[in-house]
Amino acid sequence: MKTVAANGTWVGSKPPLLRFLDECHAKFSADDDGAVADYIPELGKADPAHFGISLATLDGHVYEVGDSKVPFTVQSMSKPFVFALALDTLGAARVESAIGVEPSGDPFNSIRLNAENHPFNPMVNAGAIACSGLIHEARDDDAFEYIREALGRFAGRTLAFDEAVYASESATGDRNRAIAYLLRTNAVLKDRVDSVLDVYFRQCAILVTARDIAVMAATLANRGLNPLTGQQVMTPYAISRTLSVMTSSGMYDYAGEWIYRVGIPAKSGVGGGILAALPARLGLGSYSPRLDSHGNSVRGIRVCESLSSHYDLHMLNRSDDARTSIIADYTISKNPSRRSRRPHERDILATHHEQVRVIELVGTLSFSNVDYVSRQLAGKPRPQFVIFDLHRVTSLTRAGARLVAEEFRELAAHHVTVVLSGVKRGSREWDIIREWTGGLTNVRDFYLLDTAIEWAEDQIVYRHGGAIDFHETTELSEQPLLAGLSTEELTDLASIGTVRHYRAGEKIVEAGTPAASVFFLRSGAVLVTLPGGVRLATLTAGMAFGEMALLEPTRTADVTADMAATAYEIPLREFERFRKQHPRAGERVMRNLALLLADRLIVANTKIDVLTSN
Ligand code: GLN
Repeated sequence: MKTVAANGTWVGSKPPLLRFLDECHAKFSADDDGAVADYIPELGKADPAHFGISLATLDGHVYEVGDSKVPFTVQSMSKPFVFALALDTLGAARVESAIGVEPSGDPFNSIRLNAENHPFNPMVNAGAIACSGLIHEARDDDAFEYIREALGRFAGRTLAFDEAVYASESATGDRNRAIAYLLRTNAVLKDRVDSVLDVYFRQCAILVTARDIAVMAATLANRGLNPLTGQQVMTPYAISRTLSVMTSSGMYDYAGEWIYRVGIPAKSGVGGGILAALPARLGLGSYSPRLDSHGNSVRGIRVCESLSSHYDLHMLNRSDDARTSIIADYTISKNPSRRSRRPHERDILATHHEQVRVIELVGTLSFSNVDYVSRQLAGKPRPQFVIFDLHRVTSLTRAGARLVAEEFRELAAHHVTVVLSGVKRGSREWDIIREWTGGLTNVRDFYLLDTAIEWAEDQIVYRHGGAIDFHETTELSEQPLLAGLSTEELTDLASIGTVRHYRAGEKIVEAGTPAASVFFLRSGAVLVTLPGGVRLATLTAGMAFGEMALLEPTRTADVTADMAATAYEIPLREFERFRKQHPRAGERVMRNLALLLADRLIVANTKIDVLTSN
């Protein structure tokens, strides 16, 4: 439904997801359970009524409801980002040697360390302080700015910092000080406790909004690629490890319950924020300062629970049907290329059509989809050429690419040539395919499916004794349009024609201009295209073009020489005179034309059939 806004412009109807978030906001606003954190005195000043929700999609749209633009301190939601930053800055080995990845089952501020006297995981204070210590080791006085910039890349903007909250926690945070001394005495912290804690307290006081959190979460959900800025802000390795510890420990001693009920990796902060990142789907940010006994925002938890259950988003509740990835699977008998073939070529192709198998794919080439496709090939007689049309493929996963490469190798071992169509050179998919199939010589690619089919057909014709020589010169007697004419008639016809020479790329016929002659191609090849660029046919020596002039006064297509070409051009006026002189021959030509058109119609119908029946 569309409505007209006051200023007269069209306004789309409300997306249902926004409507849902609105309803969540209205419903949970009434919930006054929990209390604002005040162990950091400055946090106690937060307005308990504030309630903002934001959801960012991976195509870069951000939904916002309520107080989504009210700034608050990030607190513990900084922990996943600083952990990711530490992994990318110091390397996994160094980080993992200092901090564990096991859930502690303890509250966030627990002073307990694991059996090796290391923090249980980077989501509790001990592990987070250890992470800040690692960044301090690497960046010294610059550590905090380095962290602030990293968080800013996730949010897609420069993030401010709340001096008052920082000062307040710094003045009162003795428990964290105790944790830090414990870490230092166990050599987890190498630098001075006060300088490391200064970094930690400052990072917790970075200011964000629910909107920022949604975008930061969406970046986590998108393998580290910020969907708004397009920037790859961390390595996919660091992101997947970060989401792992969020899954097992992000909600502290509520983590098990959380992943059981909600099933979305998340992180909370005592400032009232909750960040939830559903891989490959969305990022959610909520802000409501009243906390439960675990230090998690009460309304934020409600929002996440509702979103997960209403849309069935639990990450372990997934299914997929690989069979939908193939939309068409045929041999070239059902869908030949648009190239007009001479009779002996047609015969070869009709006999050997099973040698060219075309599989049109759609959507994501994932692990399951590629596996399914490979089994479709394994189950049938092996063709010499397999054309994979990837025009409708939108993405390729790493696992999918790995299986694609293994399948191509398998085909190579059996002397099957792989022909790809629809992959733009230089695209991400192209790069991945090249990377994984490097060194394979049995892979060819063409942008157009039709060109790919034509190429494979040529190979079949050639392998079965048909000559593909574009430079041979044919006589009028070989023209299907002139079949059945006597030598005398052909000689007469030749005498009224002029032999034309065309350079490669030269325009021979222009759509929209008067049709005043018919052409018979003697050598080379020409391309017939519609004005928009749609390719209708490739014609080679022995074929006619512009023959529609016999029926229509205006050219409907462009004809361009695809390589150096020669043709007989016979003016229509002369041809009319010829028809009067040789009525039988004239009638024969019109009948040949009708047969050629009927042929084309059959081919066109099969193509439509192939596209709609799958
Ligand atoms: N700065 C807070 C602290 O260390 C962060 C804790 C949290 O958000 N859970 O106590």
